[in-house]
Amino acid sequence: MRFARWPAALLLMTAAAAVSWRAQAPGPSLQQDVDQTRAFLCPLYALPPESCQAPMDVRLAATGDALPPGWGGLPSYAAGAAEPETGRVLIVISRCGPYPFGDVNQTLRHEISHVLLYRSLGFRAPRWLDEGLAMRASAEWGFSDEWYAAMALPFVARGSWRLSRVDADFAGGESQVRRSYALAKGFVRDLFKTDGDLTGFLLEARRDRSVDLAFVRRFGLTPDAAFRRWAENLPWWGEWVVALSSPNVLWTAVLGLFLLAVLAGWRRRRRKYEALDD
Ligand SMILES: [Zn+2]
Repeated sequence: MRFARWPAALLLMTAAAAVSWRAQAPGPSLQQDVDQTRAFLCPLYALPPESCQAPMDVRLAATGDALPPGWGGLPSYAAGAAEPETGRVLIVISRCGPYPFGDVNQTLRHEISHVLLYRSLGFRAPRWLDEGLAMRASAEWGFSDEWYAAMALPFVARGSWRLSRVDADFAGGESQVRRSYALAKGFVRDLFKTDGDLTGFLLEARRDRSVDLAFVRRFGLTPDAAFRRWAENLPWWGEWVVALSSPNVLWTAVLGLFLLAVLAGWRRRRRKYEALDD
């Protein structure tokens, strides 16, 4: 999750109220995880050594009631947040676990990815790319990815779902947020088959100062057109999910159940009638 600053007045109120702040700096094992994540992501994102080693402020909060000052605008379900420009990262331990954040280490890798991607490009990447790469960095989810992608299929498999909708839904409710994470992860995974593909693309985007421009150069179409084409080619069972969830099929099923109930009632009455003495 990326963190957007709330209005200053609200931030001040939140900071004043955060008297029970128990956030702490990472211990030795977490510091080791931070170092390992940097060692893995810096070459992947083509970071110069000085940008890679620039300070990062990673904090842990036990619960959402104990956020450090300045993190007051965090959504109530968010297990982590990053402020890429300042290198600040926050992990809320009690919220770690559920998709898309994962355990503490997965959440940490996710948030560090936001910081390092910003340092690599020198500007904020579009949300779909930023979150898709953060999900890629936070390791595999396996069944959960497939499940939430499958839940998104009825909406996107006809190719009418826009990338702007994916981006907008990151700020939506919990189910929209999960759907956008699953879609962004799947799209980004299929765009960059190898680490080398990804590193090359980020170098081009840095040189062009634009992800969209680098994207058109590399893939020959805009990110949105590529996304819609990708959505159209989602697994074959996507079409079945779409067909089965269409209003016509649902109403036909409801009508079928109604007729079955009528038939069962008629048979019951007939059996009773036949059992009566003449
Ligand atoms: Zn994120």
